[in-house]
Amino acid sequence: MLRLAIQKSGRLSEDSQNLIRECGISFLAASSKLKTEATNFPLEILYLRDDDIPGYVQDGVADLGIVGQNVLVEAGFPNLEVEGLGFSKCRLSLAVPRAATYDSIEDLQGVNIATSYPRILGDYLTERGVKANLHTISGSVEIAPSIGLAEAICDIVSSGSTLLGNGLREVETVFRSEAVLIANQNLSAEKKELLEQLQFRMQAVRRARR
Ligand code: ATP
Ligand code: ZN
Repeated sequence: MLRLAIQKSGRLSEDSQNLIRECGISFLAASSKLKTEATNFPLEILYLRDDDIPGYVQDGVADLGIVGQNVLVEAGFPNLEVEGLGFSKCRLSLAVPRAATYDSIEDLQGVNIATSYPRILGDYLTERGVKANLHTISGSVEIAPSIGLAEAICDIVSSGSTLLGNGLREVETVFRSEAVLIANQNLSAEKKELLEQLQFRMQAVRRARR
């Protein structure tokens, strides 16, 4: 039996569950139970917080997971990725107050930047020779400049309306993300075979959607 970890509730959960259902697999939706067995495929589904999914798959507590690439790369396990799933597309961007002058990434030299993605942002800045002071906060990153915590932020953007609403302007795209299927690297031969069956169905679902 394969164990698949998906987000319990949030921006990934509905699309993750829909994808599995469209693969012809029947199971109970997330409720008070955090674990359920599919009735017509050897699959057990764990409902978790998205941040915990990469570590669980890395450690083999779960065999598979569905998570945003942003969370996967930030967790430090990019090699677990098996394939992109085409939903939950978003980007991680740098933004500054609307009135701030900004010409290039050089302007972030020595600046305080608030983010929930210190690893991805740190790598991006280092590659460009920029040394900034990263302040890691776990949520409400957009308000950091208005409360004097930072002069810039790096956060997930999809439409940009949250940035606008907080008087911020997007200046650089740091990372593009979508939901990805991830797998433990030491699956048994039987589990690999089941993973292939599942991937085959997922690819058929995606082709049919186009
Ligand atoms: P959890 O409670 O599981 O920790 P969360 O609050 O960290 O959830 P969500 O806001 O549900 O996370 O986002 C989950 C993932 O969905 C993000 O990591 C990202 O990959 C993607 N995502 C975030 N914002 C958007 C958006 N506006 N549009 C599309 N996808 C998004
Ligand atoms: Zn999360």
